[in-house]
Amino acid sequence: MPLDRKPAPNDLRAFWMPFTANRQFKSAPRMLVASKDMHYTTSDGRQVLDGTAGLWCCNAGHCRPRITEAVQAQVGELDYAPAFQMGHPLAFELANRLVDIAPDGMEHVFYCNSGSEAVDTALKIALAYHRARGDAARTRLIGRERGYHGVGFGGISVGGIVNNRRHFGTLLAGVDHMPHTHLPENVFTKGQPEHGANLADELERIVALHGAETIAAVIVEPMAGSTGVLMPPKGYLEKLRAITKKHGILLIFDEVITGFGRLGSPFAAQHFGVVPDMITCAKGLTNGVIPMGAVLASAQIHDAFMQGPEHIIELFHGYTYSGNPISCAAAIATLDTYAEEGLLTRAAGLETYWQEAIHSLRDHPNVVDIRNMGLIGAVELSPIDGQPGKRGFDMFVKAFEAGILIRVTGDIIAMSPPLIISEAQIDELIGTLGDVLKTA
Ligand code: PMP
Repeated sequence: MPLDRKPAPNDLRAFWMPFTANRQFKSAPRMLVASKDMHYTTSDGRQVLDGTAGLWCCNAGHCRPRITEAVQAQVGELDYAPAFQMGHPLAFELANRLVDIAPDGMEHVFYCNSGSEAVDTALKIALAYHRARGDAARTRLIGRERGYHGVGFGGISVGGIVNNRRHFGTLLAGVDHMPHTHLPENVFTKGQPEHGANLADELERIVALHGAETIAAVIVEPMAGSTGVLMPPKGYLEKLRAITKKHGILLIFDEVITGFGRLGSPFAAQHFGVVPDMITCAKGLTNGVIPMGAVLASAQIHDAFMQGPEHIIELFHGYTYSGNPISCAAAIATLDTYAEEGLLTRAAGLETYWQEAIHSLRDHPNVVDIRNMGLIGAVELSPIDGQPGKRGFDMFVKAFEAGILIRVTGDIIAMSPPLIISEAQIDELIGTLGDVLKTA
């Protein structure tokens, strides 16, 4: 194309959108052009209340001046620094800050650029850890049905959301899945469900099948988000921890959604009082402003690599943008904002209000389950005539038109508002959703 023939900016053809029905979208686009605190502005000038913190990531709300200014200043001072054999002070400062708020026992931080990369990094560290200890037969990875661990090959292999896997061939070999924890006897439970701790015993079955000496790691979301918000049954995570420990298997918590205050503690591991060997995080790490992910690891894992001659590279893994200065500046300003406004624990104080609000939707048409914890919740709807996802998508579009942003996975409506939300805004979010649900 000659340089003087630029396509019109409103020509939507070229952008192949992720996780989107592209043809449907382009025939009726929804465009966001600005954001501030709890709201988005649409291209037609409407305000939309953000019920999802963007994509579970803008925990402090939008366009927070401290974060914006930190990014702007950093871009003008040190825009990029090579990540290998070289460093810059912010990367070290941020790692220390993360260790400070992480569960006791998480002592080291490896940077990447997204949740998917954090997952693949943690899985690779798990494999290399066992090998570094002379346990090279430990290569199996265990995930869970309905688990979401991003879209890398490692992540979709251990993940258990069927559509994300089945189009992509054979994936990683040597992966098993435990059952998911969505049990019919737990429907409409407020908070953590009573039934299902024994589902963790399925891990013993897998261990018996393959032998513990072949299993490297188990990865779970402590609270499964993307599949439609599934809470861990009481005692379940404790059991997983006990079984993994007993067999020398590493336990990885994927906290890409639960990290940074979603459940009322900095990490879900603290909320549930269960400490894994590694934690993956992203999203709320920079308030969604700049892509960044991280793996937090125990000293035991890290130290297993710090053997042998000092000039040897200990882990052959990393990214061009690992610990990027702009990301680090955004993350530090984000942690400052969280600390100043008490956001990492704010969800605990609002939990009951949120819980009662969301459960008030119980008697609306076609609602078959409601789940909640911290500042996250889901309303599950029955599918229209065996066509999964139709009712959910209809609700999403109507909600957007009515001025609220919700997220749908199939027929499950998920909400995870910014942690700055007020009680009045909770009322508005749930009230508007209630109006929309009347047409479900
Ligand atoms: N793990 C979990 C638990 C997630 O929720 C997500 C994103 N929703 C990811 C991994 C992937 O993160 P990203 O989209 O940043 O790659």
